[in-house]
Amino acid sequence: MSSVDLHIHSTASDGKLSPAEVVRKSAEAGLTVIAITDHDTVNGITPALEAAKAFPRLKVIPGIEISTDTDKGEVHVLGYFIDYTHPELQVALQRMRNSRKERAQKMIAKLKKLGLPIEWARVQEIAGSGTVGRPHIAQAMLEKGYISTIKEAFTRYISWSGPAYAERTKMSPAEIVSLILRVNGVPVLAHPLTAANPEVMIAELKEHGLVGIEVYYDGCTAEEINRLLGLADKYGLIATGGSDYHGLDANTETMIGGSNVPIEAAERLFALAKQRP
Ligand SMILES: [Zn+2]
Ligand SMILES: [Zn+2]
Repeated sequence: MSSVDLHIHSTASDGKLSPAEVVRKSAEAGLTVIAITDHDTVNGITPALEAAKAFPRLKVIPGIEISTDTDKGEVHVLGYFIDYTHPELQVALQRMRNSRKERAQKMIAKLKKLGLPIEWARVQEIAGSGTVGRPHIAQAMLEKGYISTIKEAFTRYISWSGPAYAERTKMSPAEIVSLILRVNGVPVLAHPLTAANPEVMIAELKEHGLVGIEVYYDGCTAEEINRLLGLADKYGLIATGGSDYHGLDANTETMIGGSNVPIEAAERLFALAKQRP
């Protein structure tokens, strides 16, 4: 158990707990620093900061986890201490949401041509307050009985090579690192080992101003942690980390504070945040 967790999701994206519940659970677990890092949205930050007023020992870092695309798959970039009211950030996030929506509608049109009509309204309903994504389309297809498992929707229709797949406007990891810097944030590469070539990605992003990489991450082995520590050291990056808690399955999931993130990681982020204009 560590007293620091720099990667937590809430209901603002695909987490189960509300931002206020995340804060309360973290305080009750004895944590002293957490970051709220929802996917492509800053909507959880204000309620989390509000809830944190009741727990003076707990510091809440406003953060975000932005999905970016490379030709070899998705890469996630975390931004800490972002100015979450910054107009440029708001515009970029709105553009990303629109592109997801347009893309979902394109896929629904393709499915219709394939003789598999689903309702856009139903897909939105399934997504709830979260961002519309392919899992929601798959769920709507399942309800119609076009497929027998969610996975089948992907393997037969909506994965990259599927007949109902549609592209969305893409942002590269480097573009997002630059955006985070422009809105006064501290950019950190999330779970680097999911990148096709972690070291190439880290070296490239370092040139664009990357400040840290996640090292102490949900489920990483001691060997993986050592490899990542070596890369952090080689490129002069802060070794951060977190549980990537979503609150979905208490039996299998790393709990809040469960990733043994050293307090120094948070202290170095706070020191950087202080130096900004
Ligand atoms: Zn991620
Ligand atoms: Zn995450």
